[in-house]
Amino acid sequence: MPIEVFAPAKVNLTLHITGQRADGYHLLDSLIAFAPVGDQLRVATSSAMAVSVIGPEAAGVPTDHRNLVWRALDLMQGARFAVTLDKHLPAASGIGGGSSDAAAALRGAFALAGHKDAHVTRGLLRSETSGGSYDLNLLALGADVPMCYHPRPVRVQGIGEDITPVSMPPLPAILVNPRVEVSTPQVFQALTTKTNAPGPQTIPHWQDAAQMIAWLAEQRNDLEPPAVSLQPVIGQVLASLREHCDFARMSGSGATCFGLCANPERAREAAALVAAAHPDWWVRFGMLGDQTALSAPRTA
Ligand code: ATP
Repeated sequence: MPIEVFAPAKVNLTLHITGQRADGYHLLDSLIAFAPVGDQLRVATSSAMAVSVIGPEAAGVPTDHRNLVWRALDLMQGARFAVTLDKHLPAASGIGGGSSDAAAALRGAFALAGHKDAHVTRGLLRSETSGGSYDLNLLALGADVPMCYHPRPVRVQGIGEDITPVSMPPLPAILVNPRVEVSTPQVFQALTTKTNAPGPQTIPHWQDAAQMIAWLAEQRNDLEPPAVSLQPVIGQVLASLREHCDFARMSGSGATCFGLCANPERAREAAALVAAAHPDWWVRFGMLGDQTALSAPRTA
């Protein structure tokens, strides 16, 4: 019986780049939440590995071993799966589409294969099977894959392996992508200082969305200035979001930006206004936070 799994968008509410290791990996300190907006996967056991990509954002997404879904399932040596990936998140857009797809594919494959108690520790996904415990190195697929396995609010440090759950109020948000792809390596190249201050040592307990938004306004996404210099339209997206929301920032290495409002009705209205003013932009409304329940595998 095939399994359906949802892969939610990852949003970097903050992204402090705090250094670079000798091996080239960047050190970060980022607060992450997930959106109820994302891709849908159908995973089935098969005699050969196959990935087909359908949906409104399918164009240009690879269907072979270059797809992160394929690479993730390849880690489960000996097992073979056929996956249909219904793509709704724009690719290469800073909201971790490929990483979230990879993590969702593994949630689905683990459900099919009867793996239990899966948990991620220092980039390793460990689960129990009747034959003993089982480890997969998610970090080898990219810094964002470990944090996407359990799509809940977290603080991520190190090179993506140090993940601490965070409690936060649901944040009314709009996601906007101006339909330009941004290359993550190019954005890092354009980043002038790689050693920036981390976030505060202690993450506060926010009473409500307004309090959290005020706190976020004091933090940064260090990749925002270089991304805006490479793709000035990102500056226009941020200006448009600031016009209608309480706060706006870019996610990841862009180009997707998010606007936050303390009130969900205002955010919904803001999404309609931005979409009407820019019919060529990708605009979505959603409450950012914990998408664990929405992303749990279910029988198709
Ligand atoms: P991040 O926020 O982690 O930097 P992103 O949103 O910028 O991620 P992705 O959507 O993961 O980027 O896509 C980056 C590249 O990876 C694309 O150019 C695409 O060719 C490739 N790719 C591999 N697998 C996938 C997938 N399942 N969905 C989309 N792109 C994929």
